[in-house]
Amino acid sequence: SKDQWEVDPEELTLGEELGCGQFGLVLGGKWRDKKVAVKMIREECMSDEEFKEEARVMMRLAHCKLVQLYGVCTQRSPMCLVFEFMEKGSLSDYLRAKKGCLSQDAMLKMCLDVSEGMAYLESSNFIHRDLAARNCLVSQNNEVKVSDFGMTRFVLDDQYTSSQCSKFPVKWSAPEVIRYCKFSSKSDIWSFGVLMWEVYNEGRLPYENRSNSEVVESLNAGLRLLKPRMAPDAIHELMEWCWKEKPEDRPSFALVVHELASL
Ligand code: ADP
Repeated sequence: SKDQWEVDPEELTLGEELGCGQFGLVLGGKWRDKKVAVKMIREECMSDEEFKEEARVMMRLAHCKLVQLYGVCTQRSPMCLVFEFMEKGSLSDYLRAKKGCLSQDAMLKMCLDVSEGMAYLESSNFIHRDLAARNCLVSQNNEVKVSDFGMTRFVLDDQYTSSQCSKFPVKWSAPEVIRYCKFSSKSDIWSFGVLMWEVYNEGRLPYENRSNSEVVESLNAGLRLLKPRMAPDAIHELMEWCWKEKPEDRPSFALVVHELASL
């Protein structure tokens, strides 16, 4: 009998190219009458044996604000991962496309959606490790969902995995991650603060003209990203709370959901 997470290649139809990511091409497709996104994994990019073990855990994570992993097709080469289809693509692209047209309510709702998905991960003791607007996706009805949770653990490219290296997401990372690779839900909440900053700046990149080492230096000096022009005071206060030096001084996602819902 087949494993529950194994997708039968007979049931999977591949379609147009949607994009290209860290692990290779992403295609649109159909699986059991559902529209899906299929990540074709380039072998040299992923430690796939470790991933297959973890896929079982990831498939059990199910929440309306998480991009669902439906299954893995390991019988075919390259291996592919089958995900819920998100019509409007990545949150970072979406924000840039909607620049000038986003209401306060819409921006608040985006942050709330992400915080809800993350509160579920937090309660499942699952650390995202790479939360950013580029790793969230937007659905047909403009709901934002969290994607790519935990996936950086399976990246084989050294440039990504060490905080000293060029592709490491330093600009989204908490100080203890940059210094000792100490990941936790409290380092995810730091990244969430940066994501809120991205939302209220309509998809601008944080620390646009600064190198990673300059960013590290200014963080060490206690400096933080500036208040986005469109962010209300309460939102800016929440960002600053997420960026407290000590992890234990930062809020939990459960608390952030509560705060955002009350605004
Ligand atoms: P990776 O995690 O391998 O780096 P990404 O998740 O960044 O790949 O995917 C690359 C692009 O493919 C995204 O920017 C988006 O446009 C598209 N894409 C990825 N996942 C989906 C999905 N579930 N639904 C629709 N489009 C997707």
